[in-house]
Amino acid sequence: MSGEPYEEAPWTDPIRGMTSDLVYAADEETAIQVVTEGPCPRCRDHTSDEQWLITDVAGLVETDDQRAMVATIELRLAQLRRRGEPTPGVPELIHQKMACRCAGEHPDRDSKRRNGCGAYWSYDLDVPQDYR
Ligand SMILES: [Zn+2]
Ligand SMILES: [Zn+2]
Repeated sequence: MSGEPYEEAPWTDPIRGMTSDLVYAADEETAIQVVTEGPCPRCRDHTSDEQWLITDVAGLVETDDQRAMVATIELRLAQLRRRGEPTPGVPELIHQKMACRCAGEHPDRDSKRRNGCGAYWSYDLDVPQDYR
């Protein structure tokens, strides 16, 4: 619930109610990002977080700028295709590292942060067959 004091701590209990979506590259085949949203397991406020799936390709620098990141990935994928190299497939299991980014009020949150209750967790996502 909103109102709980901010506390930076891992959440290790089960996580329920989250849903995930994959973001695809322009080829509509290569998944480049997973976006998971739902109630934060700690404060129950709505939260969402995303994780890039293609970060191990050479020369890829992660940035907070979503459009710049997608553009960089598209460029890299185009290079791979030109060279006839395989593009990364969708993993069967994604370990998404998430942190609460709710819009709720949590006292004691330090002034540099604008959201979240401080909880963070790893969300294991089985990628269903029809995603691949
Ligand atoms: Zn939270
Ligand atoms: Zn919250």
